[in-house]
Amino acid sequence: MTILVTGGAGYIGSHTCVELLEAGYDVIVADNYYNSVPEVLDRVEKITGKKLKRYECDIRDREGLERIFSENKVDAVIHFAGLKAVGESARLPLLYYENNISGSVTLFEVMEKAGCKKIVFSSSATVYGNNPIPYREDMVTGDVSSPYGRTKHFIEKILGDVYNSDNSWSISLLRYFNPIGAHESGLIGEDPNGIPNNLMPYISRVAIGKLEKLTVFGGDYDTKDGTCIRDYIHVVDLAKAHLCAVAKILGTTGIEAYNIGNGKGYSVLDIIHAFEKASGSKLNYVIGGRREGDLPAFYADASKANKELGWTAQYDIDKMCEDTWNFQKKNPDGIK
Ligand code: NAD
Ligand code: UDP
Repeated sequence: MTILVTGGAGYIGSHTCVELLEAGYDVIVADNYYNSVPEVLDRVEKITGKKLKRYECDIRDREGLERIFSENKVDAVIHFAGLKAVGESARLPLLYYENNISGSVTLFEVMEKAGCKKIVFSSSATVYGNNPIPYREDMVTGDVSSPYGRTKHFIEKILGDVYNSDNSWSISLLRYFNPIGAHESGLIGEDPNGIPNNLMPYISRVAIGKLEKLTVFGGDYDTKDGTCIRDYIHVVDLAKAHLCAVAKILGTTGIEAYNIGNGKGYSVLDIIHAFEKASGSKLNYVIGGRREGDLPAFYADASKANKELGWTAQYDIDKMCEDTWNFQKKNPDGIK
């Protein structure tokens, strides 16, 4: 079976490529390397001892995508390619709509023309907005606060319309919670350009001495220690969820959303303390003001993925922090 992975050189995509190759799938990656480098794919090959096929291709490039489908028999697509910085999306909404939504529509059109109607889409817990916690898949979604979040909501709805118009599609919408951690080898991990927006890469750059201190965004929330609660999930657990989703869509038709989270909430201070334990040293941090748009707390009800995909997260926050730190130590200047 051959799986096309858009955005396969990125953080979650590269870990998923490892799992796919190790499970015996043939893997094709399409990435424009906007937020990644080809070296990541060399490392995926090094970890697995297997080759993957790669195309430098933008998902907005129709001819480029058509070439991939004409040169290969693609059985299913895992669609990671997209921009993901929440703050940037508020400054540059059109860039986000164009890249994420136009790119996805082009991909879906090319898939349809090629007769490939099986897709796993990278959605996000952000689609739940202000719903009560824990989030469940049957909740009404779409009350989102950022253009980024709206791209995820709209693409879910577009895929819903595609399925309603043609029931031979098989679509899995994976709503990720907060992926952190890295592959155990330390060869691949999260390596954002510039100053990280997300908590874990920021912490690890403070720990390695590249950034001076972490600012905890808000210490006055109505939570156990005043800091925000999130559902952190090891990226390898997340990658394995894609394997379960692919197995499911290859054998069925339909459209389903799944929460991919641990089902447990951890505060920012919990993560800092787990990271200090993993790295063996104190982290320099201060409690600062709240970040606009942050919700106080959310975590998943992941029972649907447990039941229907046979998937359960295995790794705890200690392992997530150990693997992040291992990756950071082995790649102090990132992956070039
Ligand atoms: P990433 O930036 O590391 O990976 C995305 C990859 O897509 C990159 O390699 C980038 O170069 C590529 N890409 C972007 N636009 C492209 C285009 N137009 N054509 C081809 N390639 C393109 O991000 P990630 O953390 O691995 O996230 C993967 C997906 O999961 C994204 O869609 C993201 O929105 C979604 N997601 C991520 C998180 C998270 O916290 N990391 C949470 C929820 C959902
Ligand atoms: N956070 C923080 N300092 C930072 C980055 C993030 O305190 O420099 C907090 C943020 O307020 C949130 C949590 O860490 O409560 C996770 O933030 P992240 O941006 O990683 O993910 P989000 O859940 O916002 O998508």
